[in-house]
Amino acid sequence: MAGECPSTCCAGWSIRVDEEALERFDALPESDLKEDILQHIQKKQDGYYFMNRPDGSCMMLDPDGLCRIQRNSREEMLCITCRKFPRLAGRVQQDYWMSMAASCPVTAGYLWTKTVGWYMTDGEISQEIDWTELPYDKERKEWLEWFMDSLRKQSEAAPDSMEESVHFLWNMYQRMYDLMEGCLELLASSPELSYLEGSFDYFEKDYGAAEIISQMMTFQENFRGKLREFTKNYMLYRVYSRCLEFPEESSQKCLFTVAGELFLFYILRFSRYHTIHRDDLPSVVAEINWMYRFCVHSKRRSDQFTSLLKDKFKKLEYLAEIIIRIS
Ligand code: SF4
Repeated sequence: MAGECPSTCCAGWSIRVDEEALERFDALPESDLKEDILQHIQKKQDGYYFMNRPDGSCMMLDPDGLCRIQRNSREEMLCITCRKFPRLAGRVQQDYWMSMAASCPVTAGYLWTKTVGWYMTDGEISQEIDWTELPYDKERKEWLEWFMDSLRKQSEAAPDSMEESVHFLWNMYQRMYDLMEGCLELLASSPELSYLEGSFDYFEKDYGAAEIISQMMTFQENFRGKLREFTKNYMLYRVYSRCLEFPEESSQKCLFTVAGELFLFYILRFSRYHTIHRDDLPSVVAEINWMYRFCVHSKRRSDQFTSLLKDKFKKLEYLAEIIIRIS
């Protein structure tokens, strides 16, 4: 997509410059490009990073959405993070597994509109595989089977009574409010991540309880099936991606974090649906992108987000039940 991309992967996070890239930049012949690159790299405690502008964009990003390093040299000149984005890769025994980051609009659009497929290839022949063949450990696999089964049962279950429904939606709203408050604090401590229009604005309005319930009902009626398909896609895809990124991570932390990411996406969707009144694909894609940047791009923020979830929800089962019922 290059400059046509509706988003950018070059803003909202600190791009680490790996040692090999730094050596490549140092070895460039004296030129404007070399000066441009080196003067925009800063040393931090744990390594070298490209500087960001106050709006969070990388200093090497031009206004037309293109990178000055790539524009003035070649892709191989970029550091590892920039070169491999949005791909994620990991090795499990003899096999290499790949996934994609949902901060890329193409990945996000795919997750919202399609059923995610999985493929095995030896370089020549590709064959589709079932999600149960992905390299999850036993605990994750069993939990995911339970989760998928619960989603299916929920979709077939008789509708709740009005009283049950009101009770559930009010509880859900309070959980949304609670998590949103914690996320605002995290956002305030993340100057590189800009605010997404309308993301938490709903919660600043002075609605009465009856109005809130009615808006929650409208939301659920309009998005229920869509959220269910997205929830299935996102849960399988993200648990798998985290297995590649953090192979040593406990299954509880992994599942808790992914369930929390989904819940944060519901908050954004709900708030933006009722404040800026958008539900077109680019809007939903922007929300998925933003949620992913917020929850995943910074390891520090990701850990803070997980502790926030633990603090608010205490148990994974509780969070999972809410997600299953709203979808
Ligand atoms: S160095 Fe280039 S590709 Fe990497 S984040 Fe900055 S602008 Fe984007």
